[in-house]
This record gives sequence, structure tokens and C-alpha cells, in this order.
Amino acid sequence: MSRKVVLAANWKMNLTMKQSCELVDNICNKMKDRENCEIILFPSFLHIPAIMEKIRNKNIGLGGQNLYFEEKGAYTGEVAAFQLVDAGCSHVLIGHSERRHYFQENYETVNKKVLRALAAGLKVMLCVGESLEERENNVTEMVVVDQIVSAMQNISIKNLPDISIAYEPIWAIGTGRNATPADAAHVHKIIRKAVGRIFNTEVASEISILYGGSVKPENIKELMAEEDIDGVLVGGASLKPESFLELIKRIQS
Ligand code: PEP
Repeated sequence: MSRKVVLAANWKMNLTMKQSCELVDNICNKMKDRENCEIILFPSFLHIPAIMEKIRNKNIGLGGQNLYFEEKGAYTGEVAAFQLVDAGCSHVLIGHSERRHYFQENYETVNKKVLRALAAGLKVMLCVGESLEERENNVTEMVVVDQIVSAMQNISIKNLPDISIAYEPIWAIGTGRNATPADAAHVHKIIRKAVGRIFNTEVASEISILYGGSVKPENIKELMAEEDIDGVLVGGASLKPESFLELIKRIQS
């Protein structure tokens, strides 16, 4: 059984249109072979159409960093799943800890967003992870499993190939402090087991589980050496072409 290696880039609320486009040009022009590595970009909503043009036929995935769970209508300021699809997105990030923390996303809204995204034909990258306090109180497993179980409510087993999970310990995001590969791999195993309990072990063995939290060229290899780490979700180190290209190179070597 071989799960695809995934390198996902979350650009958050960074970069101008020009900077995003230059970054994409750089990646497309300079990246060498990436036989078994799937690259997915999550830029600002505003930059999606321009980036879509640049990555056409390049076999790079494009996604929104969020969506709204209602289908359409009077929801000023929100972005619908069908609009992401219409703009060329294949993916969407759901449940990022910054959304849970700053925008009060909870188990119910995350689940509704997952359902809406799947119904619209988007692939979901579901983010889960514990806070520092939760880790110190030894409740990481409980927190992460609760996040998975609640997000997967009412999801059909046939949708599992359209879901990947990003384990991002909150205390490691943007802090320069990453989980040790062994710690991350331990939680990845717990996540895979939880998915196995909800569905079955066969589909659980197929699901891609990414690690996120201060991933950089210096630590990507040791993280990827762990059997249960199938890829990475990268924030800061994906904002510059040099480090992004280095991540692509090292994730495969
Ligand atoms: C993220 O927010 O998804 C992330 C992993 O950020 P960073 O790589 O900057 O820690």
C-alpha cells in the first residue's frame, strides 16, 4: 500500500497578488521532477483565479483556506463551496486552528463545512491539533480523536478518498518549535486508528495524514522518515521560493 506524498502550502493572509504570482512562477519554472509528490497551494481567495491560470496543466492542486457551510445566498463576506469549484479549486482547508481559535469554529461548523465541501466535489484537508495546555495536561489523544470523530459525522465511507487530515499541534504553528518526528508519528497513528474505528482499517490505511507546524527544509526529512507521516502542511517556509523549492526537493529524497 502506498500513500501519496503531499506537500501543501498555506499562505494564510500573506502576499500581494504580484508576490503570489511570482512565487508560483518560481515554483513552476524551477522545480525539478516530483514523481510521487502532490503539491497543493492554498493562497488568498483573491489570488485563486490568477494562480489557476499559472498552474493550468502543471498538475498542482489549488484550494481555498476556508468556505462557508451554507450552499449560497445572503451571507455577506462568505465564500461558497461551489464558488471555489467554479474558480478552479480542487481542495479546501477546513478546521485550521486559526479558524477554530479566532473565528470560533467548533465541532458542528467544522462538520457542516466538511459535508458542504464534499457535496460540492472538493477534496477536504481537515486540520486537527491540540493546544500546549492540552498537551501538558496529557489530553492530546482525546482532543484530536474528538476533533476527528465530530468532523466525520454523517460522512459516507465513499467520501474517504476525498479527505486528508493535517495534524497540526497548535503550539508548533508559526512558533519555530516543531513536534519531534516520533511525537508527531505517535499522534498520526492515533488518528489513523480513530479513522479505522469510525470506518474500517482498510480505508484508514489509505488516508493521507500530514504533519504541520514549523516544517522547514531542515526538518522535513526526519519528519517524512516516519511511516505514518504522509506529507506536510507548511505555512511560513512556503512563502519564499528558495525554501519552497528546497522542501519539494527534500520531501522526495
Ligand atoms: C499552518 O498554519 O498550517 C502552518 C503549518 O504554519 P507554519 O508552517 O508557519 O508553522
